[in-house]
Amino acid sequence: MPKPRLIVFSDLDGTLLDHHNYHWSAARPALERLAAAKIPVVLNSSKTAGEIRALRDELDNNAPYIVENGAAVVIPANCFGPGPEQVETFGASRDDVLALLAQLRDEGFQFRSFSDMSAAELARNAGLSESAAELAKDRAGTEPLLWEGDDASLEAFRQKLAAQNCRLVQGGRFLHAMGTFDKADGVRFLLRKYEAQYPAEKIIAIALGDSPNDQHMLEEADIAVIVKGAQSDSVSLPSQSRAIRSIKEGPAGWNECVLNLLIEYGY
Ligand SMILES: [Mg+2]
Repeated sequence: MPKPRLIVFSDLDGTLLDHHNYHWSAARPALERLAAAKIPVVLNSSKTAGEIRALRDELDNNAPYIVENGAAVVIPANCFGPGPEQVETFGASRDDVLALLAQLRDEGFQFRSFSDMSAAELARNAGLSESAAELAKDRAGTEPLLWEGDDASLEAFRQKLAAQNCRLVQGGRFLHAMGTFDKADGVRFLLRKYEAQYPAEKIIAIALGDSPNDQHMLEEADIAVIVKGAQSDSVSLPSQSRAIRSIKEGPAGWNECVLNLLIEYGY
């Protein structure tokens, strides 16, 4: 029996990156083994393309990547056959989201979003360096904002967004106004691409995540790895896939589970 072709999809914060210091070095042994076996590691995060690109360079990763909670998939040049870099977006575009936010502001709702802030102001609000704030401001589909109104108007704002096929998702510091997509849309899209590229091979998708916003991505994979962390107990075991919980936290748990799976599948 030939080995199945493995594809890894991974969340970043709290999963491949340590929740406190953002280091990934504890996952180095597994990452090196994946690279040696030419198994793609698709990064799938709430971060922007610019932020993920910086990390991909550091990791020497050349796989496609999924940005802003599934707002878009970036396919590098010559990835699935010859051609330039391709960006595939899902749901409302950022221009649509910004137009809707402008209209709601005219109706009297009070908030301040990334597009209202200079890089310096965002750096202060988010605890980022100014260059990191520039990368965070360069967005494809979602708009983070700070709410400046009361709770009742926030509920009305939420309903107005929903009526336009958009939603508001709570992140760590900001509320994210976005279309109706999630991290699983990018996974489905890329799995179809890999299946088309390797029609005669068995593909096994492994997804790793640590929090409830990874739930749908985990359910989309053949093997779900729930990496231990502050929110991992709130992730339910996906019903249709094989599921594993790591013993160690963050990148150390990532390393532990991926190495075990690579051994199991003969890599
Ligand atoms: Mg996470």
